[in-house]
Amino acid sequence: MSPSQPPNATEAAADVPTLLVKIFGRDRPGITAGLFDTLAAYSLDVVDIEQVVTRGRMVLCALVTQPAAGLEGDLRATVHGWAESMKMEAEIISGTGDNRPRGVGRSHVTVLGHPLTSRSTAGIAARITASGGNIDRIFRLAKYPVTAVEFAVSGTETEALRTALAVEAAALGVDVAVVAAGLHRRAQRLVVMDVDSTLIQDEVIELFAAHAGCEDKVAEVTEAAMRGELDFEQSLHARVALLAGLDVSVVEKVRSEVRLTPGARTLIRTLKRLGYQVGVVSGGFTQVTDDLRDRLGLDFAQANTLEVRDGKLTGRVVGEVVDRAGKARLLRRFAAEAGVPLAQTVAIGDGANDLDMLNAAGLGVAFNAKPVVREAAYTAVNVPFLDTVLYLLGITREEVETADADEG
Ligand SMILES: [Mg+2]
Repeated sequence: MSPSQPPNATEAAADVPTLLVKIFGRDRPGITAGLFDTLAAYSLDVVDIEQVVTRGRMVLCALVTQPAAGLEGDLRATVHGWAESMKMEAEIISGTGDNRPRGVGRSHVTVLGHPLTSRSTAGIAARITASGGNIDRIFRLAKYPVTAVEFAVSGTETEALRTALAVEAAALGVDVAVVAAGLHRRAQRLVVMDVDSTLIQDEVIELFAAHAGCEDKVAEVTEAAMRGELDFEQSLHARVALLAGLDVSVVEKVRSEVRLTPGARTLIRTLKRLGYQVGVVSGGFTQVTDDLRDRLGLDFAQANTLEVRDGKLTGRVVGEVVDRAGKARLLRRFAAEAGVPLAQTVAIGDGANDLDMLNAAGLGVAFNAKPVVREAAYTAVNVPFLDTVLYLLGITREEVETADADEG
């Protein structure tokens, strides 16, 4: 800092008399300029300004230094007169200093509702207060495909707030994400997604099984695995064995049958524009994930590979099996390759074999997840739109749409 640099503005204003000027009324051009033009006659300095417009009504708050001795009454009359001429309401409150500094322990709380009810909003706000947190700001991130609002909260630990709000969110039927505030939120990051029932609506093994006429048998094995009678690797081998003899041309058919989850393209396109790297890890098959990687412009893709011999599936997989531990390992590998610290990664998944990956990531998002995952994961999204994950990262719908429009 050079010796000529002024002291911190907050310190400078700490005991200086200030006026809070609040203007409320119908939003139209010229209100902000008009207010400050009126104040300029008194040579006041601006300490803070906030303006919000909701459904055509504006609230403009200006925190300014006091006018010279004896002029406050004159200033009040002038501001009220100007406001009246503009059909606005004005309130002027005397005091000292700047805003109270925000408390230690700052978090962003994103709430997704479909719809967002008054009752849910009351519940979340009450729980923030009960956790010792103060709501400093609230603004809407999106109204489509869900209503998403963000609360800037201070005065309480992020971890404790996350735990408290997870309970409240489950009870209210809304999705809530709590992330620590700070510059890391804007740092370049890596997003790694599961594929089956996350990036896509289907389970790829079931699509193959339909072509082999063994859907029921595959479903039986899946259910046995879900009952805990088989681990993932055993169930994978058992199900792939049922595909033995299937003609390799089926791969092309399955690729064309895969249905992306609503919002998947928007999510990936937006993340890529923002400089994120995006990858997928799957307990399914490279025959499908490589195609998705190419179609969607993903940076990373890893899955199991179905063995093909003489134009037929052999019923075996080749290479190292991607299972629950493997997915977490791949997240770490992709992060290392992308040069992104693990704390700046986001993992998204729905199944039990995603849990290690969700826990390893900086932000683990359980997406329309099985109950066992929903209970274990910190952050749950239970609306069927993948692009809502953008709101958890603080990206607004307006930013998404502006970027789309700019690119034609
Ligand atoms: Mg899945």
